[in-house]
Formats: sequence, C-alpha cells, structure tokens
Amino acid sequence: MRKNKLLIEIVSFCFIRFLFSEVKDFCEWKIIMGQDFLYTFTGNPFVDAGIWAICEWSGKKKPEEIKIEDLKEIVSDVVPIYLNSEWSKSLYSFFPNNPVTNPSVKNKNQRLHEYLESLISQIGPLDISLSGNCVTCGRRNVEQVRTKTEIPLIGSGGMINYFPSGQSGADYCPACTFAVQFSPLVSYSCVKLLLLHSNSEKVMHYWAERAVKDIQRQISANNYTGCYDEGYKNPVNALFHIIEDTILRYEENWVTENPSINMYHFTNYIQGPDLDIYTVPTPVFRFLAYVKQLDQSSEWMKIVRRGYFNWDKIKEGDEYKNRGNSVYINLLKGHSIVRYFIDNKTRQVYGDWELLEFYLKEVRNMGDKRLGTLKKVGDSISEYIKDTQNIKRLNQLEMANNFATFRNLLRFIEKDRIKEGSQDSLFTLEEFMEDLFPEGVLGWRETQDLLLFRIYENLHNWLVEQDALKSQLINEEEETEISLEE
Ligand SMILES: [Zn+2]
Repeated sequence: MRKNKLLIEIVSFCFIRFLFSEVKDFCEWKIIMGQDFLYTFTGNPFVDAGIWAICEWSGKKKPEEIKIEDLKEIVSDVVPIYLNSEWSKSLYSFFPNNPVTNPSVKNKNQRLHEYLESLISQIGPLDISLSGNCVTCGRRNVEQVRTKTEIPLIGSGGMINYFPSGQSGADYCPACTFAVQFSPLVSYSCVKLLLLHSNSEKVMHYWAERAVKDIQRQISANNYTGCYDEGYKNPVNALFHIIEDTILRYEENWVTENPSINMYHFTNYIQGPDLDIYTVPTPVFRFLAYVKQLDQSSEWMKIVRRGYFNWDKIKEGDEYKNRGNSVYINLLKGHSIVRYFIDNKTRQVYGDWELLEFYLKEVRNMGDKRLGTLKKVGDSISEYIKDTQNIKRLNQLEMANNFATFRNLLRFIEKDRIKEGSQDSLFTLEEFMEDLFPEGVLGWRETQDLLLFRIYENLHNWLVEQDALKSQLINEEEETEISLEE
C-alpha cells in the first residue's frame, strides 16, 4: 500500500512538472509570437556578425529589438563610410565586384543605397512558426539567389557545379543578405580578415562593441582606416589577444561562461578566396579566465613570451605580433605547454602550483588523484634534496633523457631516504603505475617537468643561496691560493 501511494505521488509530481514546463514554454512562445521582430541569431558566422553590427550600431541589446528604422539608419550612416577609399579596400575582401568595389560602377552612392534599400523593402516580420528555404535562417523564403559579390565564400556565379541543382548562386533570403552587408563593421584586419563567432552573447557583444567604437572613432577623427586593425598579422596571436583582452577588460564571471569560439580567417578575393578556421577549446578559455581570477596575468604573460621564437631578440615594441607563438599554437592543438611553466637554466617557475594544477585539470584532463601524487612526490624530493644538500641529484633529474634513467634516479632517491631513516615511502607501486607514469615510457617527460616544477617552486630561493654560497667559497679558495703563492 505504502509503495503504491509513493508511486502515485511520484507520478503526480512528474505530471505537474510536465504541465508546468509546457505552460512555461507556451507562454514564452506566445511572448515571442506576440512581438514583431525582424532578426534572431542564425548560426551562420557572416549573418550573425552582421546582426551584431546592426545591434551595436543602433544600441540594441538583442536582435529581437531591431526595427526597420534601425536598418534604414545604418544604411544612411554606413554607406558614406563604405565609399571611403580605405574602406573599399577592406570591402574588396568581402564583396568583390559589388557597387562599391567595382571601379567601372558610376554613382556608387546611389547604387549602394538602392541595393540596400531594395533589400529592406523585402524584409517583413519574422514568423518563427513558418519555415522557408533560406539556407541560413530557415524561416524566410529566398527571392533571388546570391553570388560571392553579395555573400563571401559562396563560390562564383559561373561555377554552377558548386551549388545544388546546378543553380547559379546560394539561397539567402533578403534579411540574411542585408545583415551580411554589415559584417565588415565587426571584422578585424589581419592581412586577410578575421571574423569571430561565438555562442556567448557576452563575448560577441563586447567584441562587436569594440569594433563599432573603433569605426565611430574613425568618423569623429575623420580618418578612415578600414576594418578594425591593431597591427596583428598573425591570426593565432590576434585570436588570443582578442580573447585575453576581453577577459581582462570586462568584469564578468568568465570562468563559468563556457563559450564555444570559432574564428574565420578569410579572404573572398576573386583570384584566391581562402579560409582557415580556428577553434578555441572551451577548457582553454576557462583556463585563461582562471588566470585573471588568480591575479596571475603578469606571470601568464611571462609564460606566453617564452613561446615566441627568439623572444630575447625582439627589439621593436610591436614586432612580436607577427611572430608565431608555440604556447598559443599548442593550446589550440591540444598539446602540452607544461615546459613553458619552468626555466631549467635559472631553476625558476612561472605562475604557481595552483595555476599549473588548473591548467592540468581543465585543459589536460588530469585527475585529482594524479595531481595529488605528483605534488606529494615533488614535495618529498624537494625535502630530500634540501635535507641531504644533494644538489647533484637534482642535476641528474634535470639531465635524465630517457625513462629508464629517470626511473633509476627515483630508485636512488628512495634508497637514500631509507638510509636516512625515512618512514614513508616516496610513492606506492599503485601511485607509480597510475599517477606518475600511467603511459609508461610515453609521457614520462611531462612527469619529469611537473616534478621539476614543484621542486623549483619549493627550492628556488634555497638553490640561489646555495649557488651564492658556492661561488663565495670558490672565490675565497682562489684568494687563499693567490695569497699562498704570494
Ligand atoms: Zn534568411
């Protein structure tokens, strides 16, 4: 009986929850249906970039707030900018042979106005209960197929085998086509062009706001320079600069934002359209956010600098922007950057164990148990080196260049510790197999780097003192020898 009663209670609870969520969905749907809106995000990077540009230009927080008046306003504001010679150079990478970029077109101003206004005249309220054949929004119908003159990277009108059913262009509705015309406003100049696309409205809002502010600065200074340009010529460096700058500049809870970020580095030149896509792994973004939270940005910049090839020889202030950086490249490729956290020459670490641990956990998927063992073993070896003053053993750990040697050194340390009367073992067999060298001969280098990190972190000051003491002794010996000779 009691069981039945419990079952009835559970079923009625589930039913009420179901009913509640249905009513909630229905209400939200009614709210959306009740509004006449023109845009909502589509997932297409060029269309969404254009929607963001319109939002920022008209001071709207989300695409659903955009009105026809905003579209008319952006046309009258932006056409004079686009007609400027510097801007038409940038636009050539987007829309080759459109009224602005085709030199044979007369009355560019009038032609561009006519083109954009005719698109506006075809944009009505978006009915999300309907579906259409636009490849981007899937809501509206296509009035006319579009070619690469209007939409970047969709092939050329003449190459009919590029498109389905042998048609001469791609199916974009007037609203999506209109939005794409403003994507240059939030693009970034980096030899070719960079377009950022993210599901995070915070990331996109801050990014679009900065790009639009740069154009407003160009207007007020009456000095037009084309798409937002900070002198970056290396797309990976530019991508990390944009992300790190956004995290540092704006106060948000970035660690829990978990955005997916793609960056498109492209050109739509007629002679050689080209596209490279970079994806920022979400854990990498979380790690960069954590750097700020731990207040370790200056340490992190030291780590990043070590990734530039020949950093010491970089003389000019901005020269680094164009050099490849192996820290950034490894983060994008999912390779380890542990070795950049330590400097073997100066026996010094960058950042601390907490920062390194977050990187290992979030980006390298290392478990708590493994991290705990590595820290514990690193601490024990540090203690052993300090107690026995056996710096030679540290040299050997640093110099070990194969797994067998490194393993043997750990054995020697353990033997010494037993001789010294140590009660606890350095590690158990299970810790050795599962935590120190889970992949055996593969990956032992990372374990070596992690143990050295912990040893340097614990002993750096002591090692510097020992070095000073040693050179003082040598100097004194030399002085005594000289005085004896005399
Ligand atoms: Zn559409």
